[in-house]
Amino acid sequence: MSSEEKYKITRREFIRKGMQLSILIGLGSIAGGLITKTISEKTVWQLDTKKCTQCGRCATSCVKKPSAVKCFHAYDMCGYCDLCGGYFKPGTKDLTTAAENQLCPTSALKRKFIEEPFFEYEIDKELCIGCGKCVKGCGAFGNGSLQLQVSQDLCDNCNECSIARDCPSNAFSRVLSSDSYLMLGLRDSNKWKNKL
Ligand code: SF4
Ligand code: SF4
Ligand code: SF4
Repeated sequence: MSSEEKYKITRREFIRKGMQLSILIGLGSIAGGLITKTISEKTVWQLDTKKCTQCGRCATSCVKKPSAVKCFHAYDMCGYCDLCGGYFKPGTKDLTTAAENQLCPTSALKRKFIEEPFFEYEIDKELCIGCGKCVKGCGAFGNGSLQLQVSQDLCDNCNECSIARDCPSNAFSRVLSSDSYLMLGLRDSNKWKNKL
């Protein structure tokens, strides 16, 4: 092999190794960036609706009065039922909005006629105390579209969440603030964030 050919091979080898090195450096910086983002991003408290048993402590254990936990509605999952298990007390025959027919102790769940036979249910966040009674009723007789969540705009993000400490189902955990709602039926999280 002539010295010119040897030079060409050595040069090709040099360029190939150089390219491999730059790819490795590139991958390293992407991974490093992701790790830094995960470490530096703020975390907040949220409850997992799949673990929650609506024990009632979300209403009583929060340092905020009323609680920072509220009922949220996944409208995509709702059946818009006339006889709503989240709205009416069990056994209610007269399906009117009279206070004595409602499960909610604060009348925070609002019932609105849409068209025969559909009704929409909306939560008045100011009135909701996070007791979970409507959530339990909806889960038992309906689609489970009413769900408890920590309302991030109201939560103080305590270092140690007192509800997390008292929760019998271990439903509370810290989640990334950019993805801070764990509701079921969250098909389009941006749509939901705008609604919350
Ligand atoms: S304390 Fe836990 S189980 Fe009880 S309502 Fe809250 S999240 Fe659900
Ligand atoms: S029943 Fe409880 S959780 Fe449901 S809307 Fe009323 S106060 Fe909120
Ligand atoms: S972090 Fe504090 S304010 Fe937020 S839900 Fe828990 S106890 Fe309430």
